[in-house]
Amino acid sequence: MPELTTPDTNTPEAVAEPIFQRLVLIGLGLIGSSVARAARETGAAAEIVACDASEAVCTRVAELGIADRVEADPALAVASADCVMLCVPVGALADVAAVIAPHLAPGAILTDVGSTKISVVRDVGPVVPAGVHFVPAHPLAGTEFSGPDAGFATLFQGRYCLVVPPAGTDAAAVARVVALWERLGAMVEEMEPAHHDRVLAVVSHLPHLLAFTICGTADDLADETRQEVLRFAASGFRDFTRIAASDPVMWRDIFLNNREALLEMLARFTEDAQAMARAIRWGDAGYIEDRVLRGRKIRRSLIEIKQA
Ligand code: NAP
Repeated sequence: MPELTTPDTNTPEAVAEPIFQRLVLIGLGLIGSSVARAARETGAAAEIVACDASEAVCTRVAELGIADRVEADPALAVASADCVMLCVPVGALADVAAVIAPHLAPGAILTDVGSTKISVVRDVGPVVPAGVHFVPAHPLAGTEFSGPDAGFATLFQGRYCLVVPPAGTDAAAVARVVALWERLGAMVEEMEPAHHDRVLAVVSHLPHLLAFTICGTADDLADETRQEVLRFAASGFRDFTRIAASDPVMWRDIFLNNREALLEMLARFTEDAQAMARAIRWGDAGYIEDRVLRGRKIRRSLIEIKQA
């Protein structure tokens, strides 16, 4: 009589079917390398191919062993892939898409992780060949670090990923991209590109703009004061410096590609900052207290929904 084997119920991912046969990642920085690691750990793809413009990054990815194959030529990398994910700065997406477009397999899914979405639909959409499904996405997860060593497999766990398919996108293709991000640990929501860019302008792009600006202001101070800012940096300034340590190319591209929404949110913020300045000038204690209380409430709500 054959021996009965007990299925290993502790590792459901190990037995889950791959969502894609060949997942090609272009750009193996923080996000691309985290996708590679998470896809490997969860068995989301049968084969992971990595491609990066930087020779040093390609070499490092091979050393780290986070992809099954490293291919420097993007046209060769995407051949026969059923999913290609662009993980480069948003300013580089148009060029990369134009290079790979003629080599995408019919029926393949082309997706990205860019932090702005109107620009991605505008820059990539027109070059996508007929028969290839274009499903833009944006994982709301990251750190201030860059490069393949900065990535880690759990980056997306419990974080949101916004999927932003242009009108008329094939529903089955969208469902596979949703399934991929869910497999990587994310909570997925669909959103329309313009709405995505307005929301992200408030929750991410404006805070980064403020962090870069406040660090610049501190750096412009006279030598003596600047030294003291650094020596006595209380948590407020320290928190800004962490955000301000982010990659300059990535943030240059985000600001330039979410121009309208970011400028609108900055104008609103400037009005509110002026109102606060007025309250301080006129000793309006009630207004000041009310604003601080609103900040505390927002922080509490974030903690409650486990997004702090
Ligand atoms: P990263 O760590 O700087 O990695 C980007 C990688 O792409 C680098 O290795 C870069 O090489 C490579 N690259 C640049 N241009 C390329 C091209 N034309 N072809 C192939 N490779 C190219 O950046 P990241 O933080 O992973 O961000 C990648 C994307 O994710 C961006 O669109 C960003 O908006 C989005 N995103 C970032 C975060 C975050 O918190 N970091 C969160 C969500 C989404 P070089 O180093 O040689 O330039």
